[in-house]
Amino acid sequence: MPRRLAMLAFAVALSAQADTDRETLYQISTIDALLTGVYDPLSSIRDALPHGDVGLGTFTDLDGELILLDGQVYQATADGQVRHLPSDPDIGTPFIAVTHFDADQTLNPPAGQDYTSFKTWLEAQFPSRNLAYAIRLDGTFERMVFRSVPKQSKPYPPLAAISSQQTVFRQDAVTGTLIGFWCPTFMQGVNVPGFHLHFLSADRQQGGHVLDFTLTGGRVQLDPTNGWTVQLPLDPAFLGTQLGADQSEALHAIEQGPPAQ
Ligand SMILES: [Zn+2]
Repeated sequence: MPRRLAMLAFAVALSAQADTDRETLYQISTIDALLTGVYDPLSSIRDALPHGDVGLGTFTDLDGELILLDGQVYQATADGQVRHLPSDPDIGTPFIAVTHFDADQTLNPPAGQDYTSFKTWLEAQFPSRNLAYAIRLDGTFERMVFRSVPKQSKPYPPLAAISSQQTVFRQDAVTGTLIGFWCPTFMQGVNVPGFHLHFLSADRQQGGHVLDFTLTGGRVQLDPTNGWTVQLPLDPAFLGTQLGADQSEALHAIEQGPPAQ
């Protein structure tokens, strides 16, 4: 389909949604607050769940990577454990982003892609760079490199300062799901510009923040999202933190972990 027609089809699909909340990226706090070291329980995970069935985030004290998949919450901690949380988890979060996933486009990515080539390929499929996208990739991976972060205590260091403490895992020949978002550049400071994906293995035994992979084969589902709700916490930890500085270098730093185990 010509690009303009494809865009029109997307626009019609978006406007046809009766429940506009389904096409909203809902998040609690901002990525820059997390980067500056606000790991306080700004909200409860249970408060975010009515707003989505897929997403990602972290936990109070930065205690691992949060994966929300098919309405189920998983906690992947730095010791390599993955915990399936109860359906109504009254557990604190300093940052979480969720949406209701409705696959509007299904694509088959070429085999052999690594994360960098996958990003270039998928961005070329987007009808516009001015929307956010929820992304789901179910596949088999020749290699998956992911990380988790260790629980912190106060006074909290900034996120970039603990990149050397994060645990990087490498798993070969693994089947699982990548879930997360692509956000436009103009969302910088509030969410992560570009790709941010978390991994959960099919056996639910491994998971974390995706650093790299080599794809054997799989299926990508895209959900363009034209609404964005940011819940700004009234917690003193959030209110008192200094925001507004360009954190893009810190964001880049946390993508570079120690060598994979
Ligand atoms: Zn992450």
